Amino acid sequence: MGSMHTGLEEEKGGYDKMAVFYGERAKGGVGLIVTGGVSPSISGWVSPFSIKLTSNREARKHKRITDKVHENGGKICMQILHSGRYGYHPFCVAPSKIKSPISKFTPRALSTSGVRRTVKSFVKCARLAHKAGYDGVEVMGSEGYLINEFLVTKTNKRTDEYGGSYENRMKFPLEIIRGIRKELGEEFIIIYRLSMLDLVDEGSTWTEIVTLAKEVQKAGANIINTGIGWHEARVPTIATSVPRGAFSWVTQRLMGEVSIPLITTNRINTPEKANSILEKGHADMISMARPFLADAHFMNKAKDNLSEEINTCIGCNQACLDHIFKQKTASCLVNPRACREIEFDTLKSVNRTTKKIVVVGAGPAGLAFSVEAAKLGHQVTLVDRSSEIGGQFNLAKKVAGKEEFHETLRYFQVMLDKYNVEVLLNTNVNVDLIKSLSPDEVVVSTGVIPRKLSIEGASLPSVISYYDLITKNIPVGKKVVIIGAGGIGFDVAEFLLHEPMDDSEEGINQFLADWGVDTQYKHGGALLEKTEKHAPKCEITLLQRKPGKLGANLGKTTGWIHRAGLKKSGVTMLAGLTYEKITEEGLWINQKGESKLIACDNIIICAGQLPANKLKEELDNSGISNHIIGGARKAAELDAKAAIEEGTFLAYSI
Ligand code: NAP
Ligand code: SF4
Repeated sequence: MGSMHTGLEEEKGGYDKMAVFYGERAKGGVGLIVTGGVSPSISGWVSPFSIKLTSNREARKHKRITDKVHENGGKICMQILHSGRYGYHPFCVAPSKIKSPISKFTPRALSTSGVRRTVKSFVKCARLAHKAGYDGVEVMGSEGYLINEFLVTKTNKRTDEYGGSYENRMKFPLEIIRGIRKELGEEFIIIYRLSMLDLVDEGSTWTEIVTLAKEVQKAGANIINTGIGWHEARVPTIATSVPRGAFSWVTQRLMGEVSIPLITTNRINTPEKANSILEKGHADMISMARPFLADAHFMNKAKDNLSEEINTCIGCNQACLDHIFKQKTASCLVNPRACREIEFDTLKSVNRTTKKIVVVGAGPAGLAFSVEAAKLGHQVTLVDRSSEIGGQFNLAKKVAGKEEFHETLRYFQVMLDKYNVEVLLNTNVNVDLIKSLSPDEVVVSTGVIPRKLSIEGASLPSVISYYDLITKNIPVGKKVVIIGAGGIGFDVAEFLLHEPMDDSEEGINQFLADWGVDTQYKHGGALLEKTEKHAPKCEITLLQRKPGKLGANLGKTTGWIHRAGLKKSGVTMLAGLTYEKITEEGLWINQKGESKLIACDNIIICAGQLPANKLKEELDNSGISNHIIGGARKAAELDAKAAIEEGTFLAYSI
C-alpha cells in the first residue's frame, strides 16, 4: 500500500484513527504498508503543524499504529517526507532560494551545515520510527520534494559539495540512506522513492536516474519505488482519465539495472491490471494507495478470486486528494467508511430491528443505501423505472475518461445480489405500489431532472439536453455551443471530443504523446519539445453567465486537467454573459452590453438540475412517512460523493 496523506495525521485522536485505518488494511491482506509522509523536522512540514517525528513522545503515539498493523499480520514502513520548497509555511527550505510555482512561500536556501543537519534529521527520524515499531522507512525522493530538488539543476544552483556535478547533487539522498542503514542495521527496510519521471523541464536525465538507482542500492536501500511527476508538472499522472498502468513502462526501463526489487505505481486499481504488469516484467512489486481507501479488503478478495467484489477506486480524487488540498480529512467517494472506521464501527454497534424497506431510485444514493441497509440485515426492495441500475452513473460511464464508473456499477450489482436486495427495474413507482409492498420505511432517491431553458427558441430541434445527448447518442453538427460550464458541461465537451480511455499499449502511448511525455527520454524530465495537434471532432464553445474562470468548482486536483484537455482541443470558453435567444443560426448572447451571435449547429443545455421529488410530495400527501436522499433532496451542488455518503449514513440511522 503506497504512501498517502489522509489528514488523520493532524486530526484530534488521529493516531488511534490511523491505527484502526492501517490495521484494517493489514487485515485485508496488504503485504507492506507505507504510511503518509512524516516530516523529520519543522522546516520539512508540508503545512503548518503537519505530522512530524522528532521526539520520543511522538514515537510513542506512532506505536499505536505499528502495534495494530502487526496484530493484524501486516508490515509497515513510515515514509519520511521533507517537503522542501513545496512546504506551505514560512519556514520552508530548499537547496536554493527558488520559489515553486505552487506555493506562495519562498524557501530559504540551506547552508552546507544546514544540509548536514537535515541529513541527520532524516536519520534521527528513522531511528525514532524504528523505536515506534516500524519495520522500515520509505525515503521520499520524488514528486518535487526536497530530495528531488537537490537532484536537478532546475532547483539546485548550489556551489558547495551538494551542488554542481550530478555526483554532488546525489550526495544528499545517498548520505541519508547510508546514515539510516548504519544506524539501524541490516534488518530495517529502506525503500527509496526515486523520481523516474520528473515531467518538468530540466528534470533528471535517464542516465542520471540509472546512476542514482545504482548508488541508492549501494548505499543500502532494499527496495526502489517509482515516483512519477513533480507536483507542479502539467501532465496528469493519477486522474481517472490516465489509462490504467500508464506509467509502469518507466519502471520497466530500470529493471535489470539494479538487483533490488522495483515497485511500480500510478493508476493500478485492479488485481488483473497488477498481475498483467508483473507478468509483463514491468516491475517486481506493485504499489497502490487509493485502491485501499476504496476497499480495505482488496488483497484478500483478489487472493480468494473474488475480484468482482472489490469496490474499485475510480481515480476521481474527489474525496481523497481534493479533501487534502482543502485541509479536510480524506475519505473515498465509493467508500465513505475510509478514514472513519471508528465512527462507522460505533454506528454499526447500535442495536437495530430488522425492517422491510422500499427504496425508490437506483442511482448512487439509492444504491449505496440499499447495499448498506441490506448488509445491516434489513430486507430491502429497490425499485427503478429504468431498465438498469445506476441513475446518473450511466451517463458518467459514457464520458471519455470516466469509464471507471462501470466498475462502481459492477460492484453495486454484485453487492445487491450478495446481500439479497430485491431489485425491481422497469417499474413505475406510485403511492399504490408502495402501499402494496407494505414497507416499514420508504426511501426516496429519485434523483434529478435537467433544468430546461426558458429563453426564446429553446424548443428548436437544434437544442438538446445533456441527458438526451448522452443517453440517446444524438448526433450533433460541427459547431456546438454548450450552455453551462459545471461538471456536466465539461463532461459533455469531453464526451463530444475525446475517445474512450484505452489502457492498451497503443492507448497508453497515445495518452503520453498527447500530454507531451517523451518515452524515448531525449531530454531531462522526459517532456517532448512539442506535442502533436489533432483536429478536434467538433468546434465547441462552452459558456457560463457568471464572470471568472470556467470550471472553477471542478475538483481541486483534476479541474486543471479538464480545462487543459479542452483547451488542447480548441474549445472556446466564455464567461460573464447572458443568453438572449436561440435562432436557426445559433445562440445570441450579450456580453458587456453587446449582442452577439455564436453561430452553431447545436446547443447542448447543461444548466444544472432540479430535484425529482414528485413522488415525495405524493407520499407526503398520502401520509406515508419517508426519507429523501441524494439529488431528489438537494440537486444543487450534488455529486456522486454526497449521494453515496448520504445513502450510506441513512442506512446506519434507520
Ligand atoms: P453545476 O455544476 O451546478 O453547473 C450548472 C451550470 O449551469 C453552471 O455553469 C451555471 O453557470 C449554469 N446555470 C445554472 N442555472 C442556469 C440557468 N438557469 N440558465 C443557464 N445556465 C445556468 O451543475 P452540473 O454541471 O449539472 O453538475 C451537477 C453536479 O454534478 C455538480 O455538483 C457537479 O459538481 C457534479 N459533477 C461533477 C463532475 C466532476 O468532474 N467532478 C462531473 C459531473 C458532475 P451560470 O449560472 O454561471 O451560467
Ligand atoms: Fe479512488 Fe475517488 Fe475514492 Fe479517491 S475518492 S480513493 S480517487 S474512488
